[in-house]
Amino acid sequence: MKRVLVTGSSRGIGRAVALRLAKDGFAVVTHAVRNVEAAQTAAAECAALSGMPEQKALVFDLADRAAVAAALEADMAANGVYFGVVANAGVNADAPFPILEGEMWDRVIDTDLTGLYNLLKPVVMPMVSARVRGRIVALSSVSGIAGNRGQVNYSAAKAGVIGAVKALAVELAKRGITVNAVAPGVIETEMAASIEFQDEVKKAIPMRRFGTPEEVAGVVAFLFRDEAAYVTRQVISVNGGLF
Ligand code: NDP
Repeated sequence: MKRVLVTGSSRGIGRAVALRLAKDGFAVVTHAVRNVEAAQTAAAECAALSGMPEQKALVFDLADRAAVAAALEADMAANGVYFGVVANAGVNADAPFPILEGEMWDRVIDTDLTGLYNLLKPVVMPMVSARVRGRIVALSSVSGIAGNRGQVNYSAAKAGVIGAVKALAVELAKRGITVNAVAPGVIETEMAASIEFQDEVKKAIPMRRFGTPEEVAGVVAFLFRDEAAYVTRQVISVNGGLF
């Protein structure tokens, strides 16, 4: 049984990734911080798709290092190490730089960048010790590659994710564990719903539309395939040609 943790799988991209990996036969562990019921519903749907036992959804705030470690260590002790982790959960707090308050900077860095450390630190050594030739995928963003107006904090966090992924990929390559980033453009989720002037934004995208969570999930699922074992230290964009 190959267990895969997908953070932020109560909704949006994470939910689509969880369902897609379950369809591919992985035993998916879902997660949320507030919408616990939605994460458990996703877990039940995953179990139905994969034929694997239903797992209890994990609940933690990525910014709370001790809580993340406690939840992951308890889950691994009870159910075994992970074959893979999809570091998907994330937040944004957008504002033009003159009104970007310290709290907004801290919240996004603490969740999206430091949260990646908090998540991976407890799970990587157990994967190495168990000689799992597994997969780590982190969600970055076109903002982390190109920078985006009103997202100085988010662009910094998502660029940091890319640096962390590339360095960790080098460290884990000998172990056969691949580490990659997937960088979506604008995807139809609650996070993107707040975007103003949506028609104008679509005009800037060569494909003239937003992407779907399933289109991101397909790329994540590719990285989990046996055939992708030699793909590591990469950033794969899913953005309709935006950048
Ligand atoms: P959503 O806002 O739809 O969902 C966010 C998920 O993250 C939810 O499951 C939420 O849990 C969880 N979450 C939020 N805050 C925390 C926290 N502090 N600790 C733990 N979990 C948390 O996001 P998307 O599906 O749109 O985005 C998924 C990933 O893709 C993110 O990393 C995002 O930055 C990235 N991305 C998204 C793009 C887009 O256009 N949508 C574009 C580029 C990148 P709960 O339901 O409990 O609140």
